[in-house]
Amino acid sequence: MERVIVVGAGVIGLSCAVRLLEAGCEVHVLARDLPDETTSAVSAAMWYPYRAAPPDRVRAWARRSFLDYVDIAAQHEEAGVRLRSGTELMRVDTGNPEWLADVLEYARLDDVPEPYVAGRRFRTPVADMGIYLPWLRHRLHELSGTLTRMALAQLPAPQDGVVVDTSGLGARLLAADATVRPLRGQVVVVEQFGLTEWSLDDSVPTYVVPREHTVVVGGTAEEDEWSVQPDAELSAGLLDRAHDLLLRTGAPAMADRLRRARIVAHRVGLRPERPSVRLDEEVVDGVRVVHCYGHGGSGMTLSWGCASDVVDLVVAG
Ligand SMILES: Cc1cc2nc3c(=O)[nH]c(=O)nc-3n(C[C@H](O)[C@H](O)[C@H](O)COP(=O)(O)OP(=O)(O)OC[C@H]3O[C@@H](n4cnc5c(N)ncnc54)[C@H](O)[C@@H]3O)c2cc1C
Repeated sequence: MERVIVVGAGVIGLSCAVRLLEAGCEVHVLARDLPDETTSAVSAAMWYPYRAAPPDRVRAWARRSFLDYVDIAAQHEEAGVRLRSGTELMRVDTGNPEWLADVLEYARLDDVPEPYVAGRRFRTPVADMGIYLPWLRHRLHELSGTLTRMALAQLPAPQDGVVVDTSGLGARLLAADATVRPLRGQVVVVEQFGLTEWSLDDSVPTYVVPREHTVVVGGTAEEDEWSVQPDAELSAGLLDRAHDLLLRTGAPAMADRLRRARIVAHRVGLRPERPSVRLDEEVVDGVRVVHCYGHGGSGMTLSWGCASDVVDLVVAG
């Protein structure tokens, strides 16, 4: 049985750990931040490829993940994953991305309000990270994997076995990779007000994404910005933009409820952006290391596809 140390307990690390355990490996996860403290926990966690490359691999990882999320939603109600319909409005009509072929119930909108020029509706998986990450953690333990809090100054160097590096932004230190950079995202989490559909304007970006008990209102995409302190002015702007978006997607009652919804939290996450996702293997001082980091704005979207490729690399070696 292959012994694997996974570094990182975000959505990528936990998904890799679960798939490696299912493939018969012995798995130990080490992480500075526990799942609910990671960038992944801040994520709106809607399946939607955004700020991740290269296009051909992203397409394949996203498609694979979509199918796995559909299975999870059908078989594990307790996992907090739902297939949700929603509306996307666009200020510039860039045509249909290839991944639209993977979503459910796609329909182009012919009539969109100003300042938008195009729109579409589709159904896609949305994970409530407050439920989904604990579910993944539970799966890990159920399959006899372990999770230990540990801040590492370098990647572990076990005598045998493989190290899987899913450290996200931490790869700047652990893999000495300065091409991974923060893409700051701020959100406001409000209490659920009866919202079941998501709304998105990806040009700003602005989104309103329902979870089970809360709604995530976003967002921002600030390059090379390291502050994890929420900015009050930004939050106010997010709520205003979200309100306008709900009005324009034809949900005035929801827009009104958003105005009155109780704010639960202001949160910031630093997306691990890289010119392209790193998923490859190298040998460092005699230790096999499989890297899987740099998922930018698509960690949830790509998680299962990447985990599957990580298993292939680990097992093939
Ligand atoms: C506001 C916001 C909204 C988003 N919305 C979406 C969305 O709708 N859909 C989507 O697909 N994606 C979305 N994302 C992106 C997504 O959250 C990220 O791509 C994803 O979280 C990356 O996961 P990860 O596991 O690689 O990294 P992380 O979640 O950051 O986890 C990294 C792990 O590595 C550990 N680590 C790092 N350094 C060390 C070290 N030195 N020693 C030990 N452990 C270490 C950390 O402690 C942590 O456990 C969003 C992000 C933000 C911020």
